[in-house]
Amino acid sequence: MTPSAQSGTERHPLARKEASLHTWALGSQGPGSYDGTSNMSTLRQDPTTRHWVILAPRRGARPHDHVSIPRQVLPERDESCPFCPGNEGQTPPELLRIPDDPWKVRVVPNLYAALQGDGDIERTGPPLFREMPGVGEAEVVVESPRHDMRLDEMALEDVQHIVRAWRERYRALIDKPHVQAVMVFKNFGPMAGTSLIHPHSQVVAIPVNSPRLLRRLDVATSYFDDTGHCVYDDLVVAERAAGVRMVDGRGRFVAFEPFASSSPFETWICPTFHSSSFDELEDGDVSDLAWMLSSTVGAIRRACDDPDYNLVLYSAPSDKGEDIFLWHVRILPKLSQPAGFELGSAIGINTVEPEAAAEELRKALAV
Ligand SMILES: [Zn+2]
Ligand SMILES: [Zn+2]
Repeated sequence: MTPSAQSGTERHPLARKEASLHTWALGSQGPGSYDGTSNMSTLRQDPTTRHWVILAPRRGARPHDHVSIPRQVLPERDESCPFCPGNEGQTPPELLRIPDDPWKVRVVPNLYAALQGDGDIERTGPPLFREMPGVGEAEVVVESPRHDMRLDEMALEDVQHIVRAWRERYRALIDKPHVQAVMVFKNFGPMAGTSLIHPHSQVVAIPVNSPRLLRRLDVATSYFDDTGHCVYDDLVVAERAAGVRMVDGRGRFVAFEPFASSSPFETWICPTFHSSSFDELEDGDVSDLAWMLSSTVGAIRRACDDPDYNLVLYSAPSDKGEDIFLWHVRILPKLSQPAGFELGSAIGINTVEPEAAAEELRKALAV
């Protein structure tokens, strides 16, 4: 049954959500009849971060029970949009265009960049008041000439253009002397942090290490010291063998819900071969990666009532992590809002078991 087919008999999603949170707080039977077992949660540890998550499935709740805001119907072209064809002059000079004419993908500097330019990366100030210049690069990848286009609706060839643009800009930025790490990511929808509708992603080069990446490199280094293996390679093999959290596979890539998913429907796309840095992506793998991105985003859209999401690419800086790290993509649908507990502890509370999420996504792929 589709969600809309049910809506006549259900309360407003927000009311439903508040009711279920209230129930969670009180125990499923309400006060006075708590039976001590019905809300059993489990803690799971992510072997790539050693962070714990609390899996606390809401019994009886639909796996995709969340607040969803209907999307606006968009025009193919919006005259006031700086990324629509005809308005190329409104962006800073272009860094990349694929193909030449007419373009399918353009990369331009972000006009509102938090970090800009190269130059001095010297730290100044006393140890407790350290600072440095805000150098770096922030680029916007305009993913389509169509204002209303979605990643999962594009022709495969057009998604390949995006993947090639990410790789080309990653390669161009990672070798700059003032750059420590390059982040590739996509914010889709206002809950994911963007108000800009035109399909786009971002490539940002930063002059300091990313704490999240450093943590993963540290954990992967200890794992390698203990076992002689890359933790991600072992994890991909183990997830494929377990099968229950697998979502999809194509060519040399797989998609799965990680054992210790920190939020509902967290999905990873991983190479099934060892490669630490995204700049190593070979031409022969571009099409399968593009296919996996598009089909996974589409499955999440169908399974979870079209949620906002963040897509993040993790990649080891080219001179680090060669044996120990595997570049990979994480897709994080915005189905829950981290609150005080999560922000204070860095322990996620996930109300959807990854096994259940994987099953939903497999069903959505079969549609
Ligand atoms: Zn536009
Ligand atoms: Zn590996």
